[in-house]
Formats: sequence, C-alpha cells, structure tokens
Amino acid sequence: MKKRDNQQEGDEPIWLQEGGERAPIHDSINGSTDLVIIGGGIAGTSTAFHARRSGLSVALIEKDRIANHASGRNDGQILLGLGEHFNRLVSQFGLEKSRNLWKFLEKNSLATRAAIKTLEIPCELQEQGGLRFSISTSEQRELEESARLMEKEGIPHQLWTQKDLEKEADWAKGFFGGLFIEGEAVFSPAAFVRGLAEIYHKEGGSILEKEEVVGISGGAGDYCLETKSGLRLQAGMIVHASSALSPNLDRSGFLEHQVFPFRGQILLTGQLEPQLASRIPSWAMSTHFCYEYFRKHGSQLTLGGMRWSVRGEETGIRNDSQINPEITKKLWAWLEQHIPEAASAGIDRVWSGIMAGTRDGLPLIGPIPGQQGEFLCCAFNGYGMGFGFLAGKLCCELMLQGRSTDPAASSFAPRRLMGM
Ligand SMILES: Cc1cc2nc3c(=O)[nH]c(=O)nc-3n(C[C@H](O)[C@H](O)[C@H](O)COP(=O)(O)OP(=O)(O)OC[C@H]3O[C@@H](n4cnc5c(N)ncnc54)[C@H](O)[C@@H]3O)c2cc1C
Repeated sequence: MKKRDNQQEGDEPIWLQEGGERAPIHDSINGSTDLVIIGGGIAGTSTAFHARRSGLSVALIEKDRIANHASGRNDGQILLGLGEHFNRLVSQFGLEKSRNLWKFLEKNSLATRAAIKTLEIPCELQEQGGLRFSISTSEQRELEESARLMEKEGIPHQLWTQKDLEKEADWAKGFFGGLFIEGEAVFSPAAFVRGLAEIYHKEGGSILEKEEVVGISGGAGDYCLETKSGLRLQAGMIVHASSALSPNLDRSGFLEHQVFPFRGQILLTGQLEPQLASRIPSWAMSTHFCYEYFRKHGSQLTLGGMRWSVRGEETGIRNDSQINPEITKKLWAWLEQHIPEAASAGIDRVWSGIMAGTRDGLPLIGPIPGQQGEFLCCAFNGYGMGFGFLAGKLCCELMLQGRSTDPAASSFAPRRLMGM
C-alpha cells in the first residue's frame, strides 16, 4: 500500500490486459454507408451489432481502441435497477416507471447473458446473482422497504439479516444485512464488448479504430463526417455513442447542458489467500446505496467508489489516465474495515474511467431533438453494462421504425430533458 499512497498515474485496467495484443482494425470504406456510429464502447458496439443484423451497412468509428474507455474500465457488474434500492427508484420515478425500468434492465441482463452463450463470447460470465450489503441500520430499513415493494411486484429477491450474512458471507464485516438479487451477474466487460465487435465485424460491419471524428456537416440522408486524419465519410444516419464526449459533435447544442463527465476509480487487490478466495462468491456486490461496489475476479477483488468522499473533485474530468490518491486511501481503509482478511493481499493496480451523467440518472437513447437522422445512445451514468446490449437494439428500432413498443423507451428519450 505504501508505494501507492501518492500515486496519481492510473494503471492499465486488468480487463484491458486480457485477450492479448492485436493490431488496430481499420477497414476502408467505399461510398456512403447507411449508418456511422461514433464511439466503440458497449453502447456503440451494441448498436452496430444490431444495426448490421437489421441489414444496414454500418461503420463503427473509435478514436482509440474498442472498449478502451469506460466500457473497459468499469467493474463488470450487470446490475438491475441502476444499482439503486428499489424503494429509492420508486421515490424518484414513481411505481410504474420504476417497474418498466426494472423490466428493461432484467430483459437486458437476460439478453446479454444469452448472447454471450449463443455467440460464444469468452468473457468470464458468472451468473451467481448480486448482493447489496447494508452499511447502516437505516440502509437495512431501506432494504426491508425495497423487499416489501419487490414482493408486490413479483421481483425475485431474498432479504438477509445480519445472522444470514454471518452464515453466507462470514468474510464481510460491519454490515447489518443485505438484499440478494438473483438476476445480477458479473463478467469481464472489455472481453464482452470486444467479442461482440468481432462478431459484428465477421458479419460484414466495418470498424475504424484509431480514427477520431472531428466534424459533421450535411443533414439527414447525406451526412459527411470528417476525421482527424483527414478521412471524409458519407452516411445516411449517425449515432452518437461517444459518452461524455458526445456534446463535442452535437451541432444542435442540446447535449452541452444535458451531459456531464465524472470520474470513477477502482482498486484491484493482489491475489487473495486461497482459503479466502474460495469463500467469496462471484456475486455483483455493493453497499452504501451502491456508492461502493466490489466483486471477485479470479482470486482478486475489485473495489470501487468513494467519489462522495472528495465532494466535487471527480466531476468535470475527462482524463482517465490519472487517479485520485485520496480515493485510493479511502478505498483501502474501506477494505481493511470491511474485508480485513483481504488486506494482506495488498494492491495490484488502481485505474479510473470517465462516465457520462444526466440529471435524472437515465441514459439518452433516441433522436437528438431537432436533428433529423442523428441519434443518441449515450450517457449511461454508472450503469452502461446493465443497459448496453438492449440499448443498442432500442436505438436501432427507433432509427428504423421511428418508435418502440418497450414501455421504458420514453424514459430514455432525449426530448424528455427539453426545458430541464
Ligand atoms: C470506475 C467505473 C466503474 C463502473 N462500474 C460499472 C458496473 O459495474 N456496471 C455498469 O453497468 N456500469 C459501470 N460503469 C459505467 C459503465 O462503464 C459506462 O456506463 C459504460 O461503459 C458507458 O459505455 P459507453 O459506450 O457509453 O461509453 P465508453 O465506453 O466510454 O465509449 C465511448 C467511446 O467513444 C469514443 N469516442 C469519443 N469521442 C469520439 C470521437 N470524436 N470519434 C471517435 N470515437 C470517439 C471514446 O474513445 C470511447 O471509447 C462504471 C464506470 C466506471 C468509470
């Protein structure tokens, strides 16, 4: 720990080290494509996958490498309900909207896991469920309230007391109980996104890595995208899946006031003692209303969060090569307190990632208001893995049919934020 006390340079996320080296893909594009997608994270890649399967000619453009940013720098938890306790969702959105949101995320979790299996994407999927630990008696009371509401909604869950925790998770200390949610899962996020991109590519989709879009001109049916290297691409439609950088290319000015960047940070421990590693399940785990989150990866633990402890410092940042040493210290202190047996493993690495936030915490999926032919699939806040695969499908439905029958779709429509 000592040598990392003041470290400010981030390490490479473990997920980006997996899968080995490969040369950047840079297909050549002749003539106009039906659709250009800007951004090769989970949002852009999923949209590209579904659009190609719908028969469109598609070019996916990524300024770096596929999944090198938030989608390869997160905790790989496929969460339900935005990681929020259900009672809080209901307080924020009302019962009907919360129900639709939960169902959308449940469908996404099932669809993502099914796709991993049918498409044979090797991404270390673990489907053991998720556990929300309560860090205070008041959080436990909220979990009890959530359990009551979830019972009425028929959402599978188990409410655990402190005694249950002692039996099921004796390695976790200082918690007051928990809520177990069956439909949650964990995976290696970069491997999933890169695997999906590979299939899309094999199915005839184009990929241009290391190519940054710097300008857009023209209009619906006849767009011209200019890249930093001087390429000019013609397209019928555009999807902005460039997360916190989406406002840069939005000519309408709509996104400038709607999307804001913020940074999250993750610490990965060294190898745990085998007898400890074997006792920790591969659950998606969180506590403190999801402000802190953790999971097992092989015989190591990831732990993220603590943004709240350096109030304001992590907002407005677009650079994911740096970390905040104060957060590293806070995460380490958390680990020593709550999973003390893991402390002897020390720190293997620490990295950060940039998320795109919206004021209501929901993503933007659908047409940019007033910009015919330009669509958004971005601003997934801290939950893009829980949304991404079906968000891409929804975006395609909206592009091709102009509407969706999914009752959650209107909650993601960019126009909902008009006037906010
Ligand atoms: C520390 C941390 C932990 C998290 N944990 C979880 C979790 O456990 N579960 C969960 O569901 N979510 C989690 N998230 C959130 C999740 O990572 C994001 O919501 C998700 O990855 C967003 O995906 P995206 O495709 O919108 O963005 P990104 O993955 O950031 O992709 C956007 C891409 O656009 C590219 N781009 C930008 N501008 C241009 C341009 N002009 N031309 C070409 N390309 C461009 C960028 O290079 C980038 O690769 C976490 C995030 C962080 C940072």
